[in-house]
Amino acid sequence: MSENLYELLAGGFPDDRSQSCFVFADGSEISYGALEAGTSRAAGLLVAKGVRPGDRVALQAEKSPQAVMIYLAALKVGAVFLPLNPAYTEAEIAYFRADAEPRVLITDAPGFLAEAEAAEPLAKATPRGAGDLAAIIYTSGTTGRSKGAMLSHGNLAANAVALHEIWGFSRADVLLHALPIFHVHGLFVAMHCAFLSGAPMIWLAKFGEAEVLAALPKATVMMGVPTFYTRLMANSAFTREAAGHMRLFISGSAPLLPSTFAELEARTGMRILERYGMSEAVIITSNPLQGERIAGSVGYPLPGVELRIAGGDQTGVIEIRGPSVFAGYWRNPEKTAEEFTADGWFVTGDVGRRDADGRVWISGRAKDLIISGGYNVYPKEIELVIDELTGVAESAVIGVPHPDFGEGVVAVVLGRGEEGAIIAEARRRLAAYKTPKRMVFVDDLPRNAMGKVQKNLLRDRFKDLFAQAASD
Ligand code: AMP
Repeated sequence: MSENLYELLAGGFPDDRSQSCFVFADGSEISYGALEAGTSRAAGLLVAKGVRPGDRVALQAEKSPQAVMIYLAALKVGAVFLPLNPAYTEAEIAYFRADAEPRVLITDAPGFLAEAEAAEPLAKATPRGAGDLAAIIYTSGTTGRSKGAMLSHGNLAANAVALHEIWGFSRADVLLHALPIFHVHGLFVAMHCAFLSGAPMIWLAKFGEAEVLAALPKATVMMGVPTFYTRLMANSAFTREAAGHMRLFISGSAPLLPSTFAELEARTGMRILERYGMSEAVIITSNPLQGERIAGSVGYPLPGVELRIAGGDQTGVIEIRGPSVFAGYWRNPEKTAEEFTADGWFVTGDVGRRDADGRVWISGRAKDLIISGGYNVYPKEIELVIDELTGVAESAVIGVPHPDFGEGVVAVVLGRGEEGAIIAEARRRLAAYKTPKRMVFVDDLPRNAMGKVQKNLLRDRFKDLFAQAASD
């Protein structure tokens, strides 16, 4: 039996294909029938261009329904889809081309679909096994070369089916889609839930408070990165009434501040459902739909996902195993071997713990761990304390070279305040070795497209902070 993901997704499309799939801000729509027909034509054109099962189809294009058709067409043909951030430079694209060797690189999705008008539509999906590759997702890679995570039809299908189930998706839903589609969050997590339920998506090219506020009265579910929620909260029009039609706000791709969780609850009466995932495994844990959602915890492992903490029960690196865990890094057996244990668990690189209840709490990336004077300092623990202090909107705690301690703890703080006073206040709540030796106030924290604070950039920017002090 074929396990082509496209067949699974199309199985969720509404029987009445005239129902809307994409709904735009101006009220216009594209039906599921048109999505299906466009996909078949795009698949036909891929075949005409010589794309064979297993070939890579790269897409570096702005978000559009046509880009989605190309994604689905690649699946239908049995090719391997390779989404690329439109912001990548030519040099970056040259690297991905050389590494992945795509048969085609499409940069104009509407143009491709216009060309496909003349193509012979591909009626039937190419049979695929669960282990056959469906996509390669290059990780945002803050250190070293970006690696291509190989996800199979079976990986993506297992995750899609699990999420559709645990988040209670149905035909009655309307998904507000404001995420980019070159990343697993917008491409797989959000869209697969909509497709499996045959639900419409309110389709925004990108996040904008005004556009989202205008769409909320018609939507039931929104998936976002934490910055979506902080930006909504900054708008006084985001009220209980404005959110009254929504059943679910989901957040992920970066840690959600407990203050954001609390503010959204105070503002709308709803608790954000936070989940945790990564390119290599799509979604790993989620807070419950029914039952208590707790600020700061990413919830429980998804059905079928096994999760353990390396080295026992204390805080440590999270390791996982399960049907959605990727097969390895593209043409990189060394990296693959490094990041799987001998007994087959994937080492996520995230540090966390499980509480008595089984809930997972993440304290940061292993590579962000600070070792100061021989003591391990977990940045998240310090950030949670500092974020509570007056004048602080958000903080990022990093370690930078220090002549005495090896690394010195530095808090980069979004907000305003007096350094000495805030350090003293933090010291009242933290052991001396954990207390930041310096606090630097900034107007902006550097973030990637998914809202993750780029600590590598901060470490680089402040690498001489203590060296200077020592030579002064
Ligand atoms: P990416 O592969 O680009 O999606 O990045 C995955 C990483 O994002 C994970 O390994 C985590 O470090 C981080 N991440 C995703 N979701 C969460 C979350 N809810 N809380 C904390 N970190 C998260």
